Amino acid sequence: MYLSFFGAAKVVTGANYLLEIDKRKILIDCGLFQGSSSLREKNLEQFPYNLKDIDAVILTHAHLDHIGRLPKLIKDGFRGRIFATPATLDLTKLILEDELEVQEIPLFSRKDFEKTLDFFEPVEYYRKTTVPSLSKIYLGKGKPEISFKFLDAGHILGSSIVEIFAEGKKIVFSGDLGNSPTPLLRSTEFPSSADYILIESTYGDRNHPDFLERRDLLEDMLEEIIGEGGVLMIPSFALERTQELLYELNELVENHRIPKAPIFVDSPLAIKSIGVYKKYKRYYNREASFLLRSGDKIFDFPRLDFTKTVEESKKINNINPPKVIIAGSGMSTGGRILHHEKRYLPDPKNCLLLICYQATGTTGREFFRGAKEVEIFEERVPVRAKIKVIQGYSSHADRQGLFRWLYHIKSSAQLQDRHKVKKVFVVHGEEKPAESLAQLVKDHLGIEAEVPEHGERVEL
Ligand code: ZN
Repeated sequence: MYLSFFGAAKVVTGANYLLEIDKRKILIDCGLFQGSSSLREKNLEQFPYNLKDIDAVILTHAHLDHIGRLPKLIKDGFRGRIFATPATLDLTKLILEDELEVQEIPLFSRKDFEKTLDFFEPVEYYRKTTVPSLSKIYLGKGKPEISFKFLDAGHILGSSIVEIFAEGKKIVFSGDLGNSPTPLLRSTEFPSSADYILIESTYGDRNHPDFLERRDLLEDMLEEIIGEGGVLMIPSFALERTQELLYELNELVENHRIPKAPIFVDSPLAIKSIGVYKKYKRYYNREASFLLRSGDKIFDFPRLDFTKTVEESKKINNINPPKVIIAGSGMSTGGRILHHEKRYLPDPKNCLLLICYQATGTTGREFFRGAKEVEIFEERVPVRAKIKVIQGYSSHADRQGLFRWLYHIKSSAQLQDRHKVKKVFVVHGEEKPAESLAQLVKDHLGIEAEVPEHGERVEL
């Protein structure tokens, strides 16, 4: 069996792994490269494998850096199946349709997008499923069986850890691991064993502040900025972060813990995603389920306003401060937040609150680094507004969380002799955090660990 790394190797985007079992091939994730222009150019390259030989793509979750090249895959000749949890597939549809409209260099057309949906095959968590074979090579001969199972990754709605079973081995793909406990989702689950593990390492070298601390920080920030009559802008990922934020704002507003001010969700994608969140309440954690049962509408509270159309969005300008604006994109690389930033950043009374991961090369990263001026819509915009950061909002496990997850698998695998963890591949992280986590695994778990190169092929 061979495993190749065609994305998210020493970077955080473009997740794409190829597993070859004898002559059968499957992919795990098919994400978009994001960030610097040299990374984005990779999206246009040909896939480094014959698409007609691939039996399936198994998706871990609906973030663009895990699903964004699916329509290109179909366009270029893939004819297998696309497996994911039902919520992941619903969100994937929304995200890809949104991408269709915002893509700078067109990677796929509406036709490719629509065709992609025909390949979707929803699979629930915990249901062991066999991957059907496309290839005719095995007619009459014993073909190797490949099956898989989803566990809850607790990262975004529908997100999963993928366990793959073939040739008597078990390979675990972490996908992106959540930062449990979170306001809405269930906690990240632990596979009971593994022979090989691919683990993400976005925060492989850092720990997050406490979960409760971030809620207090948010409360303080709202009190301060609303109290001073300013505009609080929050660039936010449309998926999960916005819904989590609304969940916490719901609590703060309903318990009268912050001064009154209108709160705008100015992101069509976030608004549409809320529809999917409402459909899959069965995936929520106990606290959120309890709130729902007690009649609280989590995504509906006084002075909350959803602005779907461009016209509605423009009208936010006419509302006098104080006001709170939540808009995408989370790293200020596009979307409606840019219009608000351009308008409100020059005034020191206002505040930009960063609650998302800010990748290298993004405007968000410039804010994070304290830039006094940024470029928005080809204009230099002075940054006089306060820039605040709340780190604990990450939807990724931190160094401690990643280590704990591996530790759990290692110890429960030890009880089952057959599945001693043989090797850990550290992916989906920039070089420094990835290397740092790999070192931790070697030093403190005594398991072989490697940070693979892009394009590397290893035998399992
Ligand atoms: Zn993700």
